Amino acid sequence: MSRLDSAIRRLQAQKLSLDWAVAAIGDRSGNAIELGLGNGRTFDHLRSLMPERPFYVFDRQVAAHPDCIPAEDRLFLGDFRETLPAAAERLGRETLLAHLDIGTGEKQASMALAAAIAPLVDALLADGAVVVSDQPVDLPRWKAAALPDGIGPGRIHLYEIG
Ligand code: SAM
Repeated sequence: MSRLDSAIRRLQAQKLSLDWAVAAIGDRSGNAIELGLGNGRTFDHLRSLMPERPFYVFDRQVAAHPDCIPAEDRLFLGDFRETLPAAAERLGRETLLAHLDIGTGEKQASMALAAAIAPLVDALLADGAVVVSDQPVDLPRWKAAALPDGIGPGRIHLYEIG
């Protein structure tokens, strides 16, 4: 598979997974969070699917397309390890959808970061929440969910919480 094919499949998997997650939480009330604003691609997709839902975004910097910058009061700016505990104090355990898109391209470092921050994300998640993650996570409350048709195994990771 060429790198172009692989990039296309990764983006398709991301879109199918985010669509699945939004459908899974339906109209239950609760927050959504995204770790990794990046250039704002997935932020833009998620907010288009759930314009009314409170949606908080985490990144160490804002480097997104100008049309894809969250409002200041919806942005947790800084290292995830510091902003997630602050978010838990502010938001409580009312998050129903979490998207973790934290990978740097360096597999070991990305997996280590995911392992370090997953318990901090868990502290924000309501029972019945769903998680879309670019890294695998092993936590007792996180139950692996089946991937939607069209996504190859290991490309993205879906969890149902509780
Ligand atoms: N979801 C984005 C999109 O669709 O454009 C792409 C996100 S990109 C793969 C990963 C992002 O995570 C980068 O913007 C990077 O700054 C951020 N990031 C990585 N490690 C971080 C950390 N420890 N604390 C805060 N942000 C971090």
